[in-house]
Amino acid sequence: MLQGWPYVVVEDTPDMLALWMPVGTRMKRVDMADRNSPVKDLIHGEHPVDEFRRGECLRLMLPGKPYSIWLHWSQNSPRRFSGWYVNLEAPFVRTEIGVDTTDNSLDLVVMPDLTWHWKDGDMAAEWVSVGVFTQAQTDGFFADGNEVIAMAQQRHFPFDDSFADWAPDPEWAIPTVHPEWADAPGYDLNLTTGNRLGNGASSGKEH
Ligand SMILES: [Mg+2]
Repeated sequence: MLQGWPYVVVEDTPDMLALWMPVGTRMKRVDMADRNSPVKDLIHGEHPVDEFRRGECLRLMLPGKPYSIWLHWSQNSPRRFSGWYVNLEAPFVRTEIGVDTTDNSLDLVVMPDLTWHWKDGDMAAEWVSVGVFTQAQTDGFFADGNEVIAMAQQRHFPFDDSFADWAPDPEWAIPTVHPEWADAPGYDLNLTTGNRLGNGASSGKEH
């Protein structure tokens, strides 16, 4: 499944790309399993769209790292930090219109009190059994996650107070997906092993 996710660029330095997605943002999706529609219609026609469901999100993408770290805030008043979501994914690459990555089979949730749990840990074995990821890759995802757990336990960035008072600029508009999102060369599952494949793009994959 290809997905196009729009963001507001908050910060773009050699050390970090910080992206903000407000509530109400709509993403694009091409479901490769939809056998009833020609591919060109899936990409260029009407896209199914999803509302972003986890509350507003500041996504920290760290060059070369096999994860991005998402900070979430509740929609209720008063606005309150609700924790970190660690999306294990291929290190991002830049394209002409944004960045690309591929989701891995495992995620990590870190609560504001720094307690944590795996998300979809039980499904990781299933992904291996159906041949999407190898056991070695899956072991690597757990190792990547453990690296982040150690960061959190030591309160290393961004599990410190760096973003405690962060808030989006109220002037920022809800971002929209680039019209050519599905045309940029991008990732496929094999990129988790470092092999670049042909067409197929997204600005992030479903988690
Ligand atoms: Mg994920």
